[in-house]
Amino acid sequence: ARKFFVGGNWKCNGTTEEVKKIVTTLNEAEVPSEDAVEVVVSPPFVFLTLVKSLLRSDFHVAAQNCWVRKGGAFTGEISAGMLVNLGIPWVIIGHSERRALLNESNEFVGDKVMYALSQGLKVIACIGETLEQRESGSTMAVVAAQTKAIADKVTSWGNVVLAYEPVWAIGTGKVATPAQAQEVHCELRKWLHENVGAEIATSTRIIYGGSVNGANCKELAAQPDVDGFLVGGASLKPEFVDIIKSAT
Ligand code: 13P
Repeated sequence: ARKFFVGGNWKCNGTTEEVKKIVTTLNEAEVPSEDAVEVVVSPPFVFLTLVKSLLRSDFHVAAQNCWVRKGGAFTGEISAGMLVNLGIPWVIIGHSERRALLNESNEFVGDKVMYALSQGLKVIACIGETLEQRESGSTMAVVAAQTKAIADKVTSWGNVVLAYEPVWAIGTGKVATPAQAQEVHCELRKWLHENVGAEIATSTRIIYGGSVNGANCKELAAQPDVDGFLVGGASLKPEFVDIIKSAT
């Protein structure tokens, strides 16, 4: 069985005081055991070590990005090796905000995923279509191409979680319906089955992101191919605990 996965992507938010407050809330929360749910929060780089040092030991941290290859003369970048050196186990790669605002291509994302894995990081790899793409009927073609660019480079899927985040649902309050999410997750699993392998298709977690909150998480979590969430806005609030609880 695939262990439920709940990620909190804090994006570019927070002060030291706010970060400490969120961590306190998480540390005091009663949630299902680590055997039932894997919880990973992703603060901005500058708060990673602070959060790691304060956070309960059954929750883990993720960076929100890393450089595509080995470090060096890349001003402003953070390498996968540095994250490993700090004991950061996870990294989010290919978030739609970076694809759209920083022009990260499918191929670049695939290269990043490959390099991060090679350094020993676990990767939350993000994919998802825009509203225009959905309305033109190309959702599956878009997410398959994004997944293919990753699959072309990845040889070991054990440390990859695939996050399906439709762009039209991110930060909009317009959550995908459980049926919409299930449809794409099921198709993605089929794609993995046909193009990567049966075992990887069965074992890889496909999580949903886009306006997930404490009220809509239960019904989404009940879908057979929804293996968890990547939560933005609501991960900064106490209701993130309710989303973690939707694992059981
Ligand atoms: P929201 O939950 O704020 O819609 O953001 C989702 C997201 O982008 C998580 O990576």
